[in-house]
Amino acid sequence: MRRTLAALAAAALSAPTAAPAAEARGKTEITWWGHAAFTVKTPGGTVLAIDPFFGNGKSPRKDLAQTIEKVDYVLVTHGHFDHVGDAVALGKRTGAKLITNFDLGKALVGAGYPEAQAGFETLGNVGGAIQAGDATVIMVPAIHSSGFTDERGEHGGGSPMGFVIQVKGGPVVYHTGDTDVTMDMKQIPERYGRVDVMLACIGGHFTMDPRGAALAASYVKARTVVPMHFQTFPVIPGSPEALQAALKGGAKVQVLEPGVPAAF
Ligand SMILES: [Zn+2]
Repeated sequence: MRRTLAALAAAALSAPTAAPAAEARGKTEITWWGHAAFTVKTPGGTVLAIDPFFGNGKSPRKDLAQTIEKVDYVLVTHGHFDHVGDAVALGKRTGAKLITNFDLGKALVGAGYPEAQAGFETLGNVGGAIQAGDATVIMVPAIHSSGFTDERGEHGGGSPMGFVIQVKGGPVVYHTGDTDVTMDMKQIPERYGRVDVMLACIGGHFTMDPRGAALAASYVKARTVVPMHFQTFPVIPGSPEALQAALKGGAKVQVLEPGVPAAF
């Protein structure tokens, strides 16, 4: 088991650099920045930043919000600090539009997210589909909480959510957000297509644990599961090894190396 995971991690490390440039074209690049933070670059060049908490302990680029070249859309699943992260700084610097629920969108504008980049075009709620360049971002249910706190105090953060991202000419990517496994997940492949890449929380305590995530992966018919939201803090101990054991040979587990893009 360990050896398999090590091999997967090594493959994730070497694949992007080993692939010739021509082969990399037409691929969707997903980079994990630790915790629930990812950037996704589509074949058309659209860059999405999801739950951009770049200051987490696993992140190799804690200054990414100040240095990243281009972000077109910032996606935030819910209002907690470890998911909102650097969203406001990213929005100010890159001009990225904000994709989240309406209530959290308003709270983030109050915290300084540029209002012109957080309008009806990209704020929605569960069930909504937002066009984001050559990707469609669908807001799907998550069972969690979503309060947002800043120096002004506490604000309602609306409905927590996950995102199903349909990339044109590319994979269906599902970022679960923070959630337990739900029966609602069974609708995802039926309504939005079989999930190619599931970015799944596995830490437990605040979210589903590895066994829950394995069940969730079966519900969405995931081909590949990329574990996230584990071991950033001692209280979320779930491990990729436990996920792989619970999957019983179903979906493939791919552990991403923080900061190293993987092609899908
Ligand atoms: Zn969280």
